[in-house]
Amino acid sequence: MVEYLILASLISGGFSAYIAKEKNRSAMNWFFLGFFFNLFALIAISAVPPVSNSPIHYESVAATGGGLKSWICPNCKTLNGFAIDVCHKCGAKR
Ligand SMILES: [Zn+2]
Repeated sequence: MVEYLILASLISGGFSAYIAKEKNRSAMNWFFLGFFFNLFALIAISAVPPVSNSPIHYESVAATGGGLKSWICPNCKTLNGFAIDVCHKCGAKR
């Protein structure tokens, strides 16, 4: 019986880690959360928003001057500088 509990914990830990990784969150932390809290951790990691890939975001702000006149691409949500009319990431028009 204990074996099944451990197996279930490993599976939910694995799933939690996988979902966490998809969301740019710590797979290691969420593996342990999933291991100890099973379904609760799975529900939690499913509910939390993904960590946005902000390095790219801030880089583009810096590269394009940023400021109030920059715009966010409606297609891929990348922040673009005011001087360009086409999204530098996906090519969508402003
Ligand atoms: Zn775009």
